[in-house]
Amino acid sequence: MFARLMILKASEMRPVRKMITQSRAFRPLIRRFVAGETLDQAIAAAEELLPKGIYVSLDYLGENVQSREEAVHAKNTYIEILKRIAAIKEVMPMDHVGYADGLVETVNLSVKLTQCGLDQSDDFAEENYREVLAVAKAIGNFVRVDMEGSPYTERTVKLVERVHVDYPNTGTVLQSYLYRTTEDVEWAAMRRLRIRLVKGAYFEEADVAYQEKMRVDEAYMRLAERMLEACAYPAFATHDEALIEKIQRSAKALNLPKDRFEFQMLFGVRRDLQEKLVAEGHRMRVYIPYGESWYPYFSRRLAERPANALFALKSLFKG
Ligand SMILES: Cc1cc2nc3c(=O)[nH]c(=O)nc-3n(C[C@H](O)[C@H](O)[C@H](O)COP(=O)(O)OP(=O)(O)OC[C@H]3O[C@@H](n4cnc5c(N)ncnc54)[C@H](O)[C@@H]3O)c2cc1C
Repeated sequence: MFARLMILKASEMRPVRKMITQSRAFRPLIRRFVAGETLDQAIAAAEELLPKGIYVSLDYLGENVQSREEAVHAKNTYIEILKRIAAIKEVMPMDHVGYADGLVETVNLSVKLTQCGLDQSDDFAEENYREVLAVAKAIGNFVRVDMEGSPYTERTVKLVERVHVDYPNTGTVLQSYLYRTTEDVEWAAMRRLRIRLVKGAYFEEADVAYQEKMRVDEAYMRLAERMLEACAYPAFATHDEALIEKIQRSAKALNLPKDRFEFQMLFGVRRDLQEKLVAEGHRMRVYIPYGESWYPYFSRRLAERPANALFALKSLFKG
């Protein structure tokens, strides 16, 4: 956890940012985690995964936009992505996969509220997000709000709650490192909100979040078990093989069919495990990020696995 904190902090320093964004040494690693800078590249990545039976969620990278214009640009891009997804559906035979509570889309969208203008105002972000959801609803798709740092958690939960009344085609993400997530899972279960459970990728203080990896993992499993029992189509986003096996065992003990939940992983991480889970009959969705604003996303990936940062630094010194 200490190495992770150091990498997250270092990545905020200007010289580090400059080195990573300008050095060629980091390019192969960036390409491993980010599908590209354009929507065409993201769609191409999706089209490689879909025939393998892997679903995807597209993410237009960007967060904490500085102006209303940038937020409107992001909203328009989300809408463009949804329209492109609708076009893919025409050529992909497996556009929707039925399940008891409705339909599950093979290609959907993930968004960040600070990219929709949450730093400008909650009403402004909500207005933008509602426009995106209206388009998604019209084409029968689902949009998930990623969860950002804890200063945004309550506002995100409340905003999602408000829009979900009109747009049941939305859901969000909960982080097992936050103490509050036990209650948030009950909140989501009561509203039949689709939730992705993650460990959490931001630096958080001890007054809001567990600091030891063991406690974050224990919380993840406790929350996952509750979600299997009580939540609508939960998504378990992790590359932690031990946790995945425990979730499989819990689902089996509850007699829950494999199509009542899905696993999710990040583009470029544990492709072997992604394919193994599909071969075992599980639903697997890969989160595909693209766009020019890849730096904060990439830093979080380095922090999750310090070996990634070491590997890139070695290439830098090799020239
Ligand atoms: C689909 C998806 C969506 C996400 N959305 C959010 C979100 O909205 N908000 C949020 O805070 N976080 C989000 N995350 C990130 C998440 O919080 C974790 O930081 C991330 O998933 C790493 O944790 P882990 O569960 O894989 O477990 P860890 O214990 O961190 O890792 C378990 C194993 O997975 C492998 N691994 C993990 N990360 C990497 C990596 N970067 N590179 C290479 N190998 C790796 C390693 O083998 C590691 O030993 C998301 C993750 C996924 C998969």
